Amino acid sequence: MSFDNELGAQPRCPTCGVVMRDEPGATMCPSCGRREAHDDVVMPPSFDGPAIRGG
Ligand SMILES: [Zn+2]
Repeated sequence: MSFDNELGAQPRCPTCGVVMRDEPGATMCPSCGRREAHDDVVMPPSFDGPAIRGG
């Protein structure tokens, strides 16, 4: 019953629509080998600039 939910949480390849595999710092498509980096997930700890949120 929960398989669909778990699959929905996984990113899919924009080219094939295949559920992508988890790689260190990225996801990779097992079908075509496309690799997507987790730019918006991995936060550099050295970031000390002004806050993005102005509020
Ligand atoms: Zn693919």
